[in-house]
Amino acid sequence: MPVKNRFAELHDTITEWRRDMHANPELLFDTHRTSAMVEEKLKAFGCDEVVTGIGRTGVVGVIKGKSTASGKVIGLRADMDALPIEEQTGLDYASTVPGKMHACGHDGHTAMLLGAAQYLAETRNFDGTVVVIFQPAEEGGGGGREMVDDGMMDRFNVQEVYGLHNWPGAPVGKFAIRSGPFFASADLVEIEVEGKGGHAAKPHETIDTTVMASHIVIALQTIASRNLDPVENAVISVTSFETSSKAFNVIPQKVTLKGTVRTLNPAVQDMVEKRLKEIAEGTAAVFGGVARVTYKRNYPVMINSDEQTAFAAEVAKSVTGDCEEADLVMGSEDFAFMLNARPGAYILMGNGPGASVHHPEYNFNDDAIPAGCSWWSEIVEQRMPAA
Ligand SMILES: [Zn+2]
Ligand SMILES: [Zn+2]
Repeated sequence: MPVKNRFAELHDTITEWRRDMHANPELLFDTHRTSAMVEEKLKAFGCDEVVTGIGRTGVVGVIKGKSTASGKVIGLRADMDALPIEEQTGLDYASTVPGKMHACGHDGHTAMLLGAAQYLAETRNFDGTVVVIFQPAEEGGGGGREMVDDGMMDRFNVQEVYGLHNWPGAPVGKFAIRSGPFFASADLVEIEVEGKGGHAAKPHETIDTTVMASHIVIALQTIASRNLDPVENAVISVTSFETSSKAFNVIPQKVTLKGTVRTLNPAVQDMVEKRLKEIAEGTAAVFGGVARVTYKRNYPVMINSDEQTAFAAEVAKSVTGDCEEADLVMGSEDFAFMLNARPGAYILMGNGPGASVHHPEYNFNDDAIPAGCSWWSEIVEQRMPAA
């Protein structure tokens, strides 16, 4: 079953939706224009139910099959938000909003899921219910978490959930997926180091916070090299080192360190958090100071379920004949919150050559639309075949 004919027919229309979103990017939860457009289209397609305001600006549409006797309910999710980047593509439909840009292709994801929703609402050639999920704030805001916390999964009785992301560098029509941990967790760390400030010429009268904090930065690198099982992965990056002194001759009272932790396994994440606190507090104590660690778990590890991953790969092969095992990704993805709530799978889809995501010259490839729409609709029709 190759790319569906209906999506060849709808290709120009879906491309227009995508380019309209591209010209009008919105950040985080401020996806008001995009959410209103999604709502209007879902209603026009004849969805059985369209609900707004889930996870603030999230939108959900419900499409029932010709029969719902199977009792199955599948969720399909797209993200709607853009990035705070100044676009440099020179496209005739480039961003009209200074400093904002669809540089991750969420315009393409939303347009493709709308296309799949239109087709599914027209044909209803399945036995069960589809819940199309349009989430805001994927780029760091935790929109997926907010929709789940709003009770979305229970409210719509979602049993499985599927998501997709475009992948620059891979050819159009190529899919890639892996079972188990796929995208890393992303945690935020802040360490406030406090000693005793004073004159730089009289260090013996101070408790030097810069020396203390420097030892902490170096010692934190031993978590990955000495505490972590070498077959596991973790990244611990200190990205900011700020002292409370701007002078040449003042030993600062305080130093604030900031950084991020990435892991691919919840047990590793637990270990890193524990060791990070022990090392920071213990090192500060050695020098007579104090370290206060704030460890914020932002996005969890995104874990694909085995059975749904195998199924999603089969569907991808049935659409384009091309699906391989994906590499691990140390970036994060807030679809992880939905996969923590329900079994499901997240797949990557080739975007062709060109700039990578989050680059000012990136653009979603409209040629990929029929494959993405076909994959989503086939997930539904193959998982819940019409009687
Ligand atoms: Zn992104
Ligand atoms: Zn993205």
